[in-house]
Amino acid sequence: MDTWLGLDARPRMNADEAATYERRRAHGRSRELVQTTIKVMFFYLACVVADMALLGDVTVLSVALRFGLMLPLAAMLLIYQLKVRPIRHKEYVTLGFMLAANLAWCVITVASDNPMAINYFYAAVLFQMVVTIGIRAPFRASLAATLACFLINYGFISFVAGWDPIHGLYHLAIYIPTVVQTLIASYQLEAERLINFVQMYENETLKQELSRQNDVLERLALTDPLTQLPNRRGTDAEVARLRAHLAPREIAQTAILIIDVDHFKAFNDGYGHAAGDDCLARVARVMRRELPGYAHLARHGGEEFLAVIPHCGPETAARHAESLRRRVRAEAIAHDHAGGSARFVTISIGAACGSIATDAALDDLLQSADRALYAVKADGRNGWRLAETEDDGRALGVG
Ligand code: GH3
Ligand code: MG
Ligand code: MG
Repeated sequence: MDTWLGLDARPRMNADEAATYERRRAHGRSRELVQTTIKVMFFYLACVVADMALLGDVTVLSVALRFGLMLPLAAMLLIYQLKVRPIRHKEYVTLGFMLAANLAWCVITVASDNPMAINYFYAAVLFQMVVTIGIRAPFRASLAATLACFLINYGFISFVAGWDPIHGLYHLAIYIPTVVQTLIASYQLEAERLINFVQMYENETLKQELSRQNDVLERLALTDPLTQLPNRRGTDAEVARLRAHLAPREIAQTAILIIDVDHFKAFNDGYGHAAGDDCLARVARVMRRELPGYAHLARHGGEEFLAVIPHCGPETAARHAESLRRRVRAEAIAHDHAGGSARFVTISIGAACGSIATDAALDDLLQSADRALYAVKADGRNGWRLAETEDDGRALGVG
């Protein structure tokens, strides 16, 4: 980051960053303005004691202006600060209020005949400090308020009792360095706020991009590129999700369907590998459409698919298996190399129902479904079979 005489350069921001900075800055800033106003007002009202002790002859005016005028104005300012308004407007109004307080103080001091009033006038630098560093407004607004503050104080100074040009010079000798120092502080504070914001903004943007890329990578890692179905890892993730979200009763009654394309090696040999790929993608698409959305359908490997259907008993599992078989056959994908009478691509399905609560239970179900699939193949294919499991002691049937 550039520095100029030890001061940080303000970072350049694009329109997006500037808008976000303004929005974030507003957060909590109203409360900060309210707190600053209350603290400054408390001090300002307490200074009535200083007026009485140091000037003596303007007590009534001091009480009237401090309590009768500025206190009600402060109450109105606090109400305004709590309203929903752009934060810049609130800052301008607060600075305006502080300048009004400065003006009222000048009137009190000028009204005094006490020749020591010119010494009391050194307190003008306090208003200067409030508008530059007390309010913590943006630098440009602080600079404008500084000029207004200067004009008010030096417009009145020659009317203060005890004034002469030498006093004016003494006064400037304190006032000017204070102005410069507080303006530098105001600039530096804002530059630091902007630098912090820009760094945070860049970090957040990077983090968002990283998390987006992670999401894409994760999706890719869980998806089979040919069929766009989840792959084995996708199945693992889905099983983990089901275990985490479903009630034990639903987990205990899950259907597993292993679906295998019949005579697929012959299809590949006859039509070529590319046609085999198209066939797999098509079979996957129609099966995905056939199953309900809550059923998980994945490519299990090669020309084998796996469906996981939660909260699904044997009857429903059988119905799903039959509708899948029927739907793939109805797609009428020509297969003249299957041998025998088959002329179209068909699938065989082994199904099993039971718990997937643990990996061991899931393995048991997969093995049962696999055995059922083997039986369908042995039976001539283009069918389905529901495995006998411990939970369900009967084979429901064969399609
Ligand atoms: P069955 O009816 O007994 O299942 O016979 P099959 O020929 O389908 O079974 P087998 O396991 O002998 O052959 C499966 C074939 O699937 C072998 C392999 O070339 C093919 N295959 C596996 N993955 C892909 C793939 O991604 N694309 C293509 N085109 N073929 C694949
Ligand atoms: Mg196979
Ligand atoms: Mg096969």
